[in-house]
Amino acid sequence: MEYRFLGRTGLKVSVFSLGGWLTYGGQVNEDITSDCIRAAYELGINFFDTAEVYANGKSEVYMGEVIRRSGWKRSDLVISTKLFWGGSGPNDTGLSRKHIVEGLNASLKRLQMDYVDVVYAHRPDSDTPMEEIVRAFNHVINQGKAFYWGTSEWSVEQLSDAHGTAARLGLIGPAVEQPQYNMFWRDRVEKEYAPLYQKYGMRTTIWSPLASGVLSGKYNNGVPEDSRLSMQNNAIIRRMREGLNTDDGRLKLAKVAVLKEIATRLDCTCAQLALAWCAKNPNVASVITGASRPSQVAENVAALKVLPLLTPEVMREIEHILGNRPAP
Ligand code: NDP
Repeated sequence: MEYRFLGRTGLKVSVFSLGGWLTYGGQVNEDITSDCIRAAYELGINFFDTAEVYANGKSEVYMGEVIRRSGWKRSDLVISTKLFWGGSGPNDTGLSRKHIVEGLNASLKRLQMDYVDVVYAHRPDSDTPMEEIVRAFNHVINQGKAFYWGTSEWSVEQLSDAHGTAARLGLIGPAVEQPQYNMFWRDRVEKEYAPLYQKYGMRTTIWSPLASGVLSGKYNNGVPEDSRLSMQNNAIIRRMREGLNTDDGRLKLAKVAVLKEIATRLDCTCAQLALAWCAKNPNVASVITGASRPSQVAENVAALKVLPLLTPEVMREIEHILGNRPAP
């Protein structure tokens, strides 16, 4: 496994990490959750991501229980959770000091942990003053309930404001952003955030590196019954499934079919090619993978061996197929 610094911090995270969205506490049972997390740990993954909103808190419960029972040393693990959507009451959502403090306490209880390593603001909150948000995250850090804080899907303006506010108050700014990034979704990571890497040393822990599995090629001949996009009771997934039958969806699947030829030539799977391509970006500290079974964890971690095969020529070839490089 390769470990990278989480931005301008001393914390090292595995370049491939494992997250629990939709899967742990939702799509799969506790045994499979356990098998996936154990497989990940054994392959050198030290970084596990969840959120208060995943499966209404059950993702934290399942992942926390597996980790507690494992007997692993807490210091060998990097655990992150995310706060924003904590329930239906007026103060259960957003980034008020009240929700950050109460939300994190509730997450820690579900995880059965004294602290998380990284706590993220799961989305920006324009209704709460930036000073309140920055002070609240610093407060939970000072209490020892989190070591670092980050953001997820904040704009470059919001992140600059957070850093400016933290600097003015002599406080700690966000170390890391958690944006979507994959071969089909590039602008924010490759273009919008460019000033943040230079000025603040921020790095990213990126989500949906396989575009929910589409980049594995598994949807090129329809939607398999045991796959994420076959899930019926989720509006986001329904939109993704319907999206496959649009012109844009068909174009993406056609690109995946050509990418498969490169993967075959490199003796890897399409999923491994897509994951290695994400990890090739030096501003990505960790590629947060998802897995509904341990065999996927093993396949995905083995994308490490594909990284050195992504020569400038191969990257140019991929660029030509994707045809979506963000304009300078
Ligand atoms: P991916 O795009 O990699 O999708 C993962 C899913 O793809 C798996 O659950 C599995 O679904 C399928 N899959 C995984 N590996 C393979 C493989 N080798 N071959 C075929 N299919 C495969 O990532 P996610 O969308 O799950 O995002 C990863 C993590 O990022 C989340 O768990 C979460 O921690 C974080 N995240 C953060 C968000 C944010 O707003 N900050 C938003 C979304 C995610 P199946 O087998 O069921 O088809």
